[in-house]
Parts: sequence; structure tokens; C-alpha cells
Amino acid sequence: MNRRLLLRLLAGAPLLSLPVLAATPRPQPKPAGVGLPVLVLDPGHGGRDPGAVGQSGTYEKNVVLDIAQDIATRLEGHVAVKLTREGDRFLPLADRVAFAREAQANLFISIHADSAPDNPDARGLSAYTLSATASDEFAGQLAESENIVDQRYGAATAQEEVIADILYDLAAKQTISASRFAKSALIKGAGRDLPLLDNPKRAANFAVLRAPDVPSLLIETGFLSNPQDEDILRNRKDRQQIAAVLAREIKTILRNPLFS
Ligand SMILES: [Zn+2]
Repeated sequence: MNRRLLLRLLAGAPLLSLPVLAATPRPQPKPAGVGLPVLVLDPGHGGRDPGAVGQSGTYEKNVVLDIAQDIATRLEGHVAVKLTREGDRFLPLADRVAFAREAQANLFISIHADSAPDNPDARGLSAYTLSATASDEFAGQLAESENIVDQRYGAATAQEEVIADILYDLAAKQTISASRFAKSALIKGAGRDLPLLDNPKRAANFAVLRAPDVPSLLIETGFLSNPQDEDILRNRKDRQQIAAVLAREIKTILRNPLFS
């Protein structure tokens, strides 16, 4: 069963009369005529949070905003891109996740630049998905919090709860496998043209990757703690090259039925 179908079943749950997901505001239907896949791009940090700062004074929040805006421009006409922030403003992590869910994004990508002051040789692009343990825990917590409405509107039977848990778990698992597919495809494609970190396919417990129903990636475009990478990220032409490669790979990834 497809992820969206599962979630629709959970959301409406007409057979089970379950309040699961009822606490989450349901996204509005997409406007007519919008048939393009939806990509939410999330430039990391912003406002009072500069993110990593390079030795030459490069701010992560500025370079990632520039790259994200460039990717959006390059995808015009192919993908409906929404940015979580357009300017230099602070945005809590939970709001970024909520934005992606409300946009009914087919894919969410948070754009960052790394820093590893203890390892100044580390350089290159890498991509993260949510670690399996973290995603299981989160899906469990979320399902639990959504179920709190039971206390207000009457409890579901034990059997209904079991079925809802199974459906929720399945949906979260499908989201994770789509995310992992996107990570592998992106690293493989980007690696043809951009320097990659050793072991570029990574997983971690990033809060911004926790939407249970939106495949999510976090891309570290390079290391601001590495002078060569900082030079690349400071240089407008090099940033454009990064944006061009990422836009090309994202367009290909979104053609896969996993993201429909
Ligand atoms: Zn960052």
C-alpha cells in the first residue's frame, strides 16, 4: 500500500472511526492545475542563528540560502518548490517540519554546510537521512501524541489502536525507505561532479528530518571548517555549480514513483 494512501486512511479512518492524526491540521487541497511534484527546500539556520562560520568569515546561513534559492530557480516549470525561509530569519526546527507536512511535500531537503573544527581535512558533500532508531521512536511518540485526542473524544478500542499503530508504522517505514533511496541517488549523481565526503551516505537523529509522512534529506554541501571547501562556498560561481548539480539530481529523483 502506498504511503499517501495509508495516511489518507489514517486521516479519514472511516472504517475505524479513529481520531489518529486528527490533532494535526489536515493540509488544504492543492489548487487546481498544480500537477508538479512539490519540493520543500529548507535553507538551514537564519536570523540570530548563523550556523557554522568559516575561518574567512563565511556564514552558513547565507551560503545555504543562496544555494537553495538558486536550486528553486533552476527547477521552475519542473517542480513546485517552496522555501521554508526566503530571507535571513530565524525559524525553529519544528516549524520547518510542519511547513513540509502542510505543503504535502513529495520531498523535503534541508540544505546546510558542515563544520568539523577538530578535523580540518574533512571536506566534501554528504547527505543524511533520519537514523532508523530515531525514526521509530519519533513515529511512536507522534502516534502517541496524536492519540491524546482519545481522552477528549472517547477512546478507540484496543483493536482499533493496534491497527492504527500498524498503519502508522508502515507509513513511517515507507517514508524512510523513500528517503534512503533519495540519499543514495543524490550521492551517486552528485558524486560525478562534486567532491564528496568519505562515507557520504549518513544517518543521524536530526530533528528537521522527522516528518513521518514526508521523505526527508539533509544535505551538507561542504565543510566551512576546511579552507578549500570554504573557498568553494564563498565563490558565487562554485555555489551555482553546486546548485546546478543538486537541481539536476533532485529532478531525476522526483520522477521515481516512490515520490508520487
Ligand atoms: Zn547547519
